[in-house]
Amino acid sequence: MKYCSTRGGVQGLSFVDSLMTGLAPDGGLLVPESIPDVTAQLDSWRDLSFVELAQQVIALFVDDIERETLDKLITEAYASFSHPEVIGWRTLGDVTLMELFHGPTLAFKDVALQLVGRLFEHVLAERGEHMNILGVTSGDTGGAAIASVRGQDNIDIFILYPDSKVSPLQEMQMTTVTDNNVHCVAVQGSFDDCQSLMKEVFADLDFKQEFHLGAVNSVNWARVMAQIVYYGYASLRFEQPPAFCVPTGNFGNIFAAYMAREMGFPMDRLLMATNENDILVRFFATGEYARGEVHYTLSPAMDIQVASNFERFLYYYFDKDAQRLKEFMQEFQSTGRASIGAPPGDDVLLATAVDTQQTLATLKSVFEQFDYVLDPHTAVAFAACQEFGKQCSAPLVCVATAHPAKFPEAVKQASPTAQATHPVLEALKGLASKKQLIPATVDAVKDLIRATVSAQPH
Ligand SMILES: *Cc1c(COP(=O)(O)O)cnc(C)c1O
Repeated sequence: MKYCSTRGGVQGLSFVDSLMTGLAPDGGLLVPESIPDVTAQLDSWRDLSFVELAQQVIALFVDDIERETLDKLITEAYASFSHPEVIGWRTLGDVTLMELFHGPTLAFKDVALQLVGRLFEHVLAERGEHMNILGVTSGDTGGAAIASVRGQDNIDIFILYPDSKVSPLQEMQMTTVTDNNVHCVAVQGSFDDCQSLMKEVFADLDFKQEFHLGAVNSVNWARVMAQIVYYGYASLRFEQPPAFCVPTGNFGNIFAAYMAREMGFPMDRLLMATNENDILVRFFATGEYARGEVHYTLSPAMDIQVASNFERFLYYYFDKDAQRLKEFMQEFQSTGRASIGAPPGDDVLLATAVDTQQTLATLKSVFEQFDYVLDPHTAVAFAACQEFGKQCSAPLVCVATAHPAKFPEAVKQASPTAQATHPVLEALKGLASKKQLIPATVDAVKDLIRATVSAQPH
């Protein structure tokens, strides 16, 4: 499989090169040049375990790592999960919950990042190279990325996050990792500020090359690729194609669902659920993509206005017309809004916003009815899913993206009797931590990377 940029400036990249490139040099995102069709394999895939299916699906996108090595990296990645099936399932009334949070940091980000970290390690060892990962997090990516590369000699990782906007436990999951190669950076700004700083640093191609920058955010295609697997796996459990409801922030997870469906996995409609940060909902209603004020909510991983993976969806929506996409993105970047003229009229993707009150009410009612505690992100999706169920006859799968113990304040606010704890998080309390605070400027980020790297004996 070869990869190209959504903005047309790059073609013919191998998988490994696209893994290492992260964000394309023309500012676009890398996508596979074609979408594999799996319909002929579906029958033979029905009885595979999660890991076996991952090996089949991922091999369709990776032809430049030896198959045996790739299979081994995939097996090792998912051996780090505490659930024997990797993914957990719960039936809550009409809805099947797909629990993706059984990895080391209790968020679905582990599903992709446990693999991506191992892919980086493998490629860097083969090439004898060192890489500086630059990532941003609204909460969960940082911890999951750090967990996947901590202690590795050939990687330094810099994670930017909005100062005091991630939950205390999420911050501790990052800052209590005291390995020398881990650098946690609190930025005086919003998550969107962090994301645009990252993109600007990547856009300085000399800097990117000099410091061998790599990406762990879902701008990196490898993350989306790994996430396709669980949608395929879920779709094959049902006799009738299920519909999926996904709590959405950066559009990475829902985009993986979209790709799985395009590949031919039996899937009904895809419903994205947002919190009050509803730029995507407004787009699907009007065709206008317009940046708004960031609202800080109980589901911080979704407190995003500008969803980076949305560019990948638009690329396909524009029938791979890179020029049209480039103009759209340039317009959006310079004015904060861009329009396709009318609602997209896509009958597969649907979007709903769920407010804080509904989120809390859903968390509470699910707890009271099923004695099950949702995390606030999953509660957003669950609320949307229940609403959608009234007009949908397909089986409903709601994607559970984090363990509730990561968000004890929200759980308590919803219901004082609901309890959510996890030994992995309890073990963090009282540990030493380290972080640095910087202003939200590109220079501050570059200076920090420069100073850190030059202080090290590489
Ligand atoms: C990252 C995250 C999301 C949003 O996923 P996207 O791929 O950015 O849309 C939702 N819930 C949780 C718990 C997350 O960590």
